[in-house]
Amino acid sequence: MADETPPAASPRDASPRDARPRDAIVQLTDVRKDYALGNVIVPALRGVSLSIEQGEFISIAGRSGSGKTTILNLIGCIDTPTAGTVTVNGQVTGSLRERALTNLRHAHIGFIFQSFNLLPVLNVFENVEFPMLLGEGGVPDPAERRRRVEDLVEQVGLADHLRHRPNELSGGQRQRVAIARALVTRPALVLADEPTANLDSKTGEQIIELMKRINAERGSTFVFSTHDAKVVAIANHVIRLEDGVVVADEHRGSEDRRPSARRRRRRR
Ligand code: ADP
Ligand code: MG
Repeated sequence: MADETPPAASPRDASPRDARPRDAIVQLTDVRKDYALGNVIVPALRGVSLSIEQGEFISIAGRSGSGKTTILNLIGCIDTPTAGTVTVNGQVTGSLRERALTNLRHAHIGFIFQSFNLLPVLNVFENVEFPMLLGEGGVPDPAERRRRVEDLVEQVGLADHLRHRPNELSGGQRQRVAIARALVTRPALVLADEPTANLDSKTGEQIIELMKRINAERGSTFVFSTHDAKVVAIANHVIRLEDGVVVADEHRGSEDRRPSARRRRRRR
């Protein structure tokens, strides 16, 4: 099926900021990141260049200590590079002040963490609603907030768990809540740092498949780190890291992003 139709933004979720032409939403150019550990400088990234296009489903793959979290923190505007440039949504993060970085993060980025990071005193509804109560991603209308929460909680398969607290959910269910929470402000970019690491392998694969389905349906860009080869195999762009250096940058089956292709399974 050699259909060259470009990936369309999902019509049911066509907010203005998703309507940009498909181009690099993230660009790292010769990025270095050093951490100071007492008197010792730890070089976590040693000259990383990479480019992420709108709508991609990307895996940052590498062993523990290879620099995955460091890259996600730089892309997520949690940190800035020691040298080189990180551009997110057209803005060079190293030139921004703390406040502007926070705004960029709230407006365009959703996070999913290895340990879920749900607020234990809030139920599922409240956890997913929470980012809409913050700054730039804020949604002032309570009816709109409710609509978004219910829609996403349904999409991640937890419609009958709205009033459960995190400690009343399994690990896989908690990560589904975290996915809904990351998406609720309709970020252009969703970052997930080893989202399957605290899950058994079958649940982990289901979580990645869910992320991929949402990527295909909504056109949100997903970047997730992992050291699990099975999880890497689901990505259509893989960036492999070793000791703070990119050792491979592979694109495969980019047409898989199209909504029409979302049920196609690839097995290698
Ligand atoms: P990964 O996520 O792939 O396990 P990280 O990005 O966390 O890798 O770490 C890359 C390297 O940087 C490792 O050698 C790690 O020990 C070091 N590192 C990460 N964070 C810090 C920090 N805050 N202080 C000192 N060294 C750090
Ligand atoms: Mg890490």
